[in-house]
Amino acid sequence: MVDWEGPLTEAFERATTYLTGLPERPVGPRATADELHEALGGALPTGPTDAREVVAHLAKGVEEGLLPSGSGRFFGFVFGGATPAALAADWLTTVWDQNAGLYAAAPAAAVVEEVAANWLVELFGLPSGTSVGFVTGAQMANFTGLAAARHEVLRRTGWDVERDGLIGAPPIRVLAGAERHDTIDRALRFLGLGTSCIVPIDVDDQGRMRADALAAALETEGPQIVCAQAGNVNTGAFDPIAEICDLAHAAGAWVHVDGAFGLWAAVSPELRPLVAGIDRADSWATDAHKWLNVPYDSGLVLCAHPEPHRAAMSIRAAYLIQDENGRRDSLDFNPEFSRRARGFPVYAAIRALGRSGIAEIVDRCHAMARRFADTLAANGVAVLNDVVLNQVLVRFGDDDALTRRVVSAVQREGTCWMSGTTWQGKAAMRISVSNWTTDEADIDRSAAAVLTAEGVERGQGRLE
Ligand SMILES: *Cc1c(COP(=O)(O)O)cnc(C)c1O
Repeated sequence: MVDWEGPLTEAFERATTYLTGLPERPVGPRATADELHEALGGALPTGPTDAREVVAHLAKGVEEGLLPSGSGRFFGFVFGGATPAALAADWLTTVWDQNAGLYAAAPAAAVVEEVAANWLVELFGLPSGTSVGFVTGAQMANFTGLAAARHEVLRRTGWDVERDGLIGAPPIRVLAGAERHDTIDRALRFLGLGTSCIVPIDVDDQGRMRADALAAALETEGPQIVCAQAGNVNTGAFDPIAEICDLAHAAGAWVHVDGAFGLWAAVSPELRPLVAGIDRADSWATDAHKWLNVPYDSGLVLCAHPEPHRAAMSIRAAYLIQDENGRRDSLDFNPEFSRRARGFPVYAAIRALGRSGIAEIVDRCHAMARRFADTLAANGVAVLNDVVLNQVLVRFGDDDALTRRVVSAVQREGTCWMSGTTWQGKAAMRISVSNWTTDEADIDRSAAAVLTAEGVERGQGRLE
């Protein structure tokens, strides 16, 4: 008989130890790459090893090399943690090992994704009938949304891009804010449009696309796609989506919104005004692994027009789209063929939190970001952005070198972890509050650690 219990018990015990230890664990990796190689490397195994022993060896070997991004004091990049329901459902996703590409291969996964898709559309306040794909992240969500856009703007000129490709096609202009996320450019590369199709649109001091600049750049003829952003990765700022939709649609353009984390503002009654007009866009990209705190990897693409979405992704001829029972095969909405049943943890997350629980996470992260900014500002630190969402940019003494040293010092000290960035040509520390557990005590401890690091780096408070 196969021993499932040994390796799974080992994993369970190590998992609960890790998770319950997270709140007090130093927030940063402790091991160097050399140490990790030492612990985990070695010659190719010449024969089998007991599964439980392998799990124990792996867990022990990686222990000091983990970046505890699920901690309430992890503020790096824009990472989320994992809620208990989503994490447990993710384990079962692995146990069930469903291939979610086809209904026939994973009926329960298909139904759960349909249910979760409808919940998401309602949560974000998007048009009913919006199609949804469960992808790996906002990178692939941007890719898929822009593939649907590419299909539709070319179809309107009489060009079938799925059949004829782009050689000889009418050129597409992609109008995108100068502060767009790099994954937009990468998606356009994957789509064969290349980055030279981008018409960069001027932004304001918060990184928001300027509507007047967009109006001037739109043309009256030819295929055009406008990429708007809900939540700038540095400042958290939102493009003026309603105005952008009006202008773009008047010019016959498709509007794709990159809302990797910012789209979740739509769930909060208080923050919803930030995304006013969002329901008028044509496609949206967002992540479940950021603000919904679903384990990696989990992104979502939503499209107001299921036909172009399906036309861009389906691997079957158009006349075979629906099987006779009208069941949804997710490979019609995803770039993957075989794929993990990512809908299970998304479903569990939404079911466990409900609308009010998701809004509470968003509102609390926003409030905690403001608390962090206010505390640092009260101690003379420059806050570079309007803290409209969960992102805070700070700078120490208008000094690039000092700012970078403070970021490194904070990372080494281990109370909290955040990364550095460059904003409008200046080095900054970027604080992203995206974890579902972050509370006031986390903020106060972290702000104190940042201020101490600043003091040390300024040469004050040195102990030796
Ligand atoms: C994180 C992010 C992305 C990329 O998302 P992944 O989930 O890492 O693929 C794209 N756009 C914005 C605005 C982001 O914050």
